[in-house]
Amino acid sequence: DSRDYDREVKSVCPYCGVGCQISYKVKDDRIAWVDGINGPANEGRLCVKGRFGFDYITHPHRLTKPLIRRKDAPEKGLNVDPANPWTHFREASWEEALEVAAHGLSDLRSYYGGKAVAGFGSAKCSNEEAYLFQKLIRQGFGHNNVDHCTRLCHASSVAALMENVGSGAVTATFNEIENADIAIVIGSNPIENHPVAATYFKQFAKRGGKLVLMDPRGMGLKRHAWRSLQFKPGTDVAMLNAIMNVIVEEKLYDRQYIEGFTEGFFEFRDHIRAFPPERMAELCGVPAETLREVAREFARARAGMIFWGMGISQHIHGTDNSRCLISLALLCGHVGRPGTGLHPLRGQNNVQGASDAGLIPMMLPDYQLVAEADNRELFKHIWKGTEIDAKPGLTVVEIMDAMYRGEIRGMYILGENPAMSDPDVEHARNAMAKLEHLVVQDVFLTETANYADVILPASAWAEKTGTATNTNRQVQMGRPAVSPPGEAREDWRIIVALARKLGLDWDYDHPREVFSEMKMSMRSLHHITWERLEREGAVTYPCLGPEDPGQAVVFGDGFPRRAGRAKFTPARVTPPAEIPDANFPMILTTGRQLEHWHTGSMTRRASVLDAVEPEANASMHPRTLAKLGIAPGDMFRITTRRGAIEIMARADRAVSEDMVFVPFAYVEASANVLTNPQLDPFGKIPEFKFSACRVERI
Ligand code: SF4
Repeated sequence: DSRDYDREVKSVCPYCGVGCQISYKVKDDRIAWVDGINGPANEGRLCVKGRFGFDYITHPHRLTKPLIRRKDAPEKGLNVDPANPWTHFREASWEEALEVAAHGLSDLRSYYGGKAVAGFGSAKCSNEEAYLFQKLIRQGFGHNNVDHCTRLCHASSVAALMENVGSGAVTATFNEIENADIAIVIGSNPIENHPVAATYFKQFAKRGGKLVLMDPRGMGLKRHAWRSLQFKPGTDVAMLNAIMNVIVEEKLYDRQYIEGFTEGFFEFRDHIRAFPPERMAELCGVPAETLREVAREFARARAGMIFWGMGISQHIHGTDNSRCLISLALLCGHVGRPGTGLHPLRGQNNVQGASDAGLIPMMLPDYQLVAEADNRELFKHIWKGTEIDAKPGLTVVEIMDAMYRGEIRGMYILGENPAMSDPDVEHARNAMAKLEHLVVQDVFLTETANYADVILPASAWAEKTGTATNTNRQVQMGRPAVSPPGEAREDWRIIVALARKLGLDWDYDHPREVFSEMKMSMRSLHHITWERLEREGAVTYPCLGPEDPGQAVVFGDGFPRRAGRAKFTPARVTPPAEIPDANFPMILTTGRQLEHWHTGSMTRRASVLDAVEPEANASMHPRTLAKLGIAPGDMFRITTRRGAIEIMARADRAVSEDMVFVPFAYVEASANVLTNPQLDPFGKIPEFKFSACRVERI
């Protein structure tokens, strides 16, 4: 490159789970620009977020000193100006802030017991930080009330995968699509949410691969697709069961594979007979002939893959949706060979790694159940005699409810923003206002930090050393391009300092030491060393030897379940938790958009991304807008049983006519004021993708 820079630092994009490798070009200790490099997931490609979304780290709102809530501060609420927080907070030294943070939490522990305190870790931090965070809660407070945003994205997918396949991670990398003949992309809009993965999907279609899209909205890949099934929202199980009915009734299934590698087929076959396409077609809004055609192509293909996103997982029947996708792949023997596999596209850059590292309430690192004595013994040994609570902890939404009831009185929240991301967010905000002690660790004074008693200034991804694991199971090395500003510190250092203040005997000097400890309990890291990651940049797990780059496709020889067999689990059709009625006749769905990441705390402070997409907006089909008398650009109101927002209208033909889509990045029109907190009973994930709503001109 002819442009001038002082040094180049290779790292990983901080945004989505694709995990593109990047090169920071640093000039005068500032990141001047970012290039894509040849990582295993991106081969040099980047999307607009990876390329232009870096300058939030120098935004004037960055936290550069610890803050403590003033004694005379106004009542807690969403009322702090991040540019001028001084009526609410005062600056403090690290020593004082850590003392106040630790004392507040340990006092609650002493008065009410450890369960009065809970923790939310972050899928935007490194593997080492996630590991340390869950260890702090489990060791320091004696329970498992620790969770993170995986609960709000793919918890139901993981529940179904663990149940039926025996492992929550993908069975094949998304790049394997180059070896497939057919690929189903369902409940996912990769053009906006996993843009570099979408480039591989487009190339697949260009080479003649049959791309099948299934989604009530988000048809960005439609012009590349062989078939597009715009099914009615919430009817996933009906549609997928109808497709599998064809495969069963026409005996298109892979009998040899089913006999060799699965269990539960005969019960499943009997169940699926109740879903003929002709009966399901009206319910799901897809012609029976199209369902038959897709079923036949998928079953007869030499190699097929299934990709899914939060359109599948964020329903009260999200686990059933994923069970259907797993059964579909098993019926056709499309697992364990090149070009086959199940791939839930992971959201955050390190949601796979944070989950692997044990940042979940029912499992220790590597998905080892807290309920099993052998697992607790292993960690008791590694954690120098720590007794692990055998009872699974509460999940994200359950913790919010316990806060609201006054059972949880203190929280440590690292890098998450539940005051924007939780369903029925006014309830979550009210719950946080009730906390007696809230410690928030973040790079900005987020909406959640508005409710904090102590705010600890942390590091952005470009300022820290640590590993992250992408959607492909690729563990990658993140390196610091610049130092954190002012007195801000790397997150792992803050967690360690707080743990020591809480009386834990911790002694880590570098993330590599944490990684070594993780390897003592995590078989997934076998043959993956810190030195290898420094040298090679990425290694995929499982890894079979010191020279093996890792296995792109797994389970060719059987599954990590009883007798090596995967399982068919029948799924019944259940309606969404809220059915549209005369008062709330439309369907609200939420999600991300290309330029803005989740709650917007980073991307809305990245100059290029904010310039491209500066205003809160919601999309409806042009015919729906016309019917309601709303023009694109007009402000309008959306109301649900939880609340109302006012937002600008945008026309989008990809949205079904009975639906409105709202991105959840905008605090001035918080989508989650509207959303339904009803949970899937297995994955405990809320129904973000379906709420009954009313839309009005204003
Ligand atoms: Fe970053 Fe994802 Fe874009 Fe890649 S696709 S550059 S990981 S946001």
